[in-house]
Amino acid sequence: MSKHLADSGFWPFRPVSDRIHCFLGEAPIRILLVEDDPDLAQRLVTGLEGAGFVVEHAADGETGLELGRSEDFDAAILDLGLPDMQGVEVLQRWRKAGREMPVLILSARGSWTEKVEGLNAGADDYVTKPSHVQEITARLRALMRRAAGTASPTLSYNDIVLSPSSGTVTVSGKPIDLTAQEFRMLNYFMHRQGRIISQTELLDHLYSQQEDRDPNTIEVYVARLRRKLGRDAIKTQRGLGYRLG
Ligand code: CA
Repeated sequence: MSKHLADSGFWPFRPVSDRIHCFLGEAPIRILLVEDDPDLAQRLVTGLEGAGFVVEHAADGETGLELGRSEDFDAAILDLGLPDMQGVEVLQRWRKAGREMPVLILSARGSWTEKVEGLNAGADDYVTKPSHVQEITARLRALMRRAAGTASPTLSYNDIVLSPSSGTVTVSGKPIDLTAQEFRMLNYFMHRQGRIISQTELLDHLYSQQEDRDPNTIEVYVARLRRKLGRDAIKTQRGLGYRLG
């Protein structure tokens, strides 16, 4: 993370040194806040910075989506009611791009369907509006503790090593260039080593319901992964699906 921050030019060009910060290892804890209500956003930014976090604020879904996809964050706070895009869609697209940071969703009071939809899309927790900054801060810390405690830094299978946090893959120590979708598929396989995974299961996990879910694309991605990782990396179980190794 600290290397990424240094590479991105983010550090030390932001005037953060005059505040007290929460740290994960060597880098300050960086939170992405996606919230279109300017008053609430201001309140949260002030409160979270006061609690020692470094906060990036996006006021619409498109900006939040891009920031969350292209930069590293330790956690995100995501409003579900955004002007240009549903928060759930932003979340689904982050997850599809392999972004695994803990996500806390902000949802309107009483909208339980929204919360369920958000959790199903890969959110880790939710807070109902109106909410206190202290509650949000406490939940964020809990989420990050959990993520740090349970997330293994890397997954390995034979000579393949995948790092979910940095989004990198190596084979025998050599870095392999994967597209976001290839990475997501491999990540799915790595978490389910030795299990047969059907095409339907892969479709369900790699695509949202709204998307064109063509089983042929699964074969294309499997073929590409084999090309990049080795022919025997993924086996076909005729009529059943695929298996790692
Ligand atoms: Ca809103």
